[in-house]
Parts: sequence; C-alpha cells; structure tokens
Amino acid sequence: MENVVIIGSGCAGWTAALYAARANLRPLVLTGRQPGGLLTTTTIVENYPGFPDGVDGYELMTRMQKQAERFGARAQFGTLEAADLSGRPFALTVDGERVETQTLIIATGASHRHLGLESEHKLENKGVTYCATCDGALPIFRNQPLVVVGGGDSACEEALYLTRFGSVVYLIHRRDALRASKIMAERALANPKIEPVWDSVVTDVLDVKQDKVTGVRVQNLKTNAESVLECAGLFVAIGHIPNTQIFKGVINMDENGYIIPKNGASTNVTGVFVAGDCSDHVYRQAVTAAGMGCAAAIEAERLLAAL
Ligand code: NAP
Repeated sequence: MENVVIIGSGCAGWTAALYAARANLRPLVLTGRQPGGLLTTTTIVENYPGFPDGVDGYELMTRMQKQAERFGARAQFGTLEAADLSGRPFALTVDGERVETQTLIIATGASHRHLGLESEHKLENKGVTYCATCDGALPIFRNQPLVVVGGGDSACEEALYLTRFGSVVYLIHRRDALRASKIMAERALANPKIEPVWDSVVTDVLDVKQDKVTGVRVQNLKTNAESVLECAGLFVAIGHIPNTQIFKGVINMDENGYIIPKNGASTNVTGVFVAGDCSDHVYRQAVTAAGMGCAAAIEAERLLAAL
C-alpha cells in the first residue's frame, strides 16, 4: 500500500515528490509516457529562478528527479490505465498491475494542441515551437519575421511577447475575428509589430529539406488563394488539451477538462489532490506548476497525518 502516488513527472509531479519524500512518505511517481513532462521538449529554460544562465529543460527535470529520489521518492515508468477513486485506498491500474494508495496527486499536465502537419512535426524545436515564453528569446528568432497561429488569448499573448524579439509577428487565424478576450485582442491588434492574417490556415511549414523554418504556406479559406510567408519561427498557440480524460465524471473539471481545485490543491474527492497544468490554464509556467506540486504534497501529508 502506497502513502502517496503522484501521476505525472513534470515540474508539478517532481516537486510534489520532493516534498512528500522529505515527509518520509516514500512517494511513487508514475512517469507517464513523457518522463519529465512538456519541459523536456523545450531547449533552454531562462525563466526558472535560480538559473541565471538558463537551464536545459531536460536537465532541469533530471535534476528535480534526482533531488526527489535523494529523499526516497521512487519513479516507475508507467501509464495509468484506470483509477477507482470510489473509496480509500484508491485502486489504480498501471500497465496492467494494481497499485493501492491512500492519497493521489494528479499532476498529469496538458499537451499542446498541434496543427497536425507532417512538416510541423519534423521541424519541432527547429523553428516550430509551442511556447513563446520558453523559446521566443532564442537567437534564431531575433529580428526575424515570426508567425503565430491561433485566435485565442494564448495566441495574442504569444504574439505580444514575440514583438520584443521579432521584426514582425504575423498572427494567422482561421476566422476574421479573434476569440481572445476583448482586452487581449485590442492590445494585440493595436501593436504595430503584429500583422493579422485573417481567414487563413497554415498548410505547410517550410523547409524540411533545410531542417529549419524558413516560411509557412498559407491558404486563405475564403478565396482558396495560397501564399508563402517568410519567417524564422512558427509559434503554434491553438490551445492545450489537459491530460485528465481518465478522471472525467469522477473529478470535477471545467468544460475544457481542466480539474477544478478546491481549497488550494484539493479536489472534490477527499485524498485526491491536483497540481500543475492539468488544473491551470492561466499561468502554465514551470515555476507555478512546481509551487502547486509543493502545495499538493503538503495537503496530502496533512491528510495522512490526520488519518
Ligand atoms: P482557445 O481560447 O481555445 O483558443 C484556441 C484558438 O486556436 C482559437 O482561436 C481557435 O480558433 C484556434 N484553433 C483551434 N484549433 C485550431 C486548428 N486546428 N487550426 C487553427 N486554429 C485553431 O485557447 P487558448 O488561447 O489557449 O486559451 C485557453 C484558455 O486559457 C481560455 O479560457 C483563455 O481565456 C485562457 N487564457 C487566458 C490568458 C490570459 O488571460 N492572459 C492567456 C492565455 C490563455 P477558433 O477561434 O476558430 O475556434
């Protein structure tokens, strides 16, 4: 019987593990299919406090894991297939095996929604990125034309952020009006460095042969006209998908699938806590996820002490 099982091995998961381990709870961390989480897919992380020269995303996550393991956390490569949360101990099915636990911390994160183009996939981290805050300041994007795809708050936020680095930021949206909140939309459209490209979709990312982004092929959905926009970076900001489907109907979540936390890091099920991007569509930063992981572990520890 486990004291604490943590599902997910991103910043939230490993920080929860660190705190739970230091409370002598020997937490079990189920890594999921992407050990280290989304951060391992970015290059340099320059906004995590304590690393004045930046830190490689993969290295940051490896360090977090080592730190938690030093105090007794255990990692298990595995995917959660089912969770019976109807009573404690909770029963989890992990790669066909049953795992029982007194408390559970859900830190399953969120995945970037992709356009679904083959060229997008091939040029990921070679000019195609899903996080302007993480990658926007990289030298390859400085003083270059950049493209953001999307029409929501994320796309506006990314486009505005990128105006600090790019020579011009094309905001490509499939409709003729932004979905973003009024204030964000107005701010984006008022910025002289942001050029909206309406009613359009990206159909191809160039140039796979050169192994870097040199432009995007754009189709106007109203006229069907195709054109090429030269750019050094493609920032896809068409939303996230929280990895919470497995808890649907049991753990309270909003209409987009983000878990709704109760009193900080608790959920509607006593003994189940939540941390990180699977419950946060507002900040979505490594440091905020880490903070939520810490809170979830402290809550789990308190509950176990009270039992
Ligand atoms: P979102 O509001 O769901 O917007 C996604 C955008 O991407 C929409 O404009 C959508 O187009 C477009 N899109 C979706 N799939 C597409 C595809 N396959 N190809 C092309 N375009 C596609 O997502 P979000 O911007 O990430 O925001 C998510 C939530 O977080 C929202 O509640 C938002 O308010 C919040 N948020 C808030 C802030 C802030 O307040 N500072 C910042 C970021 C996010 P359509 O418009 O045609 O559907």
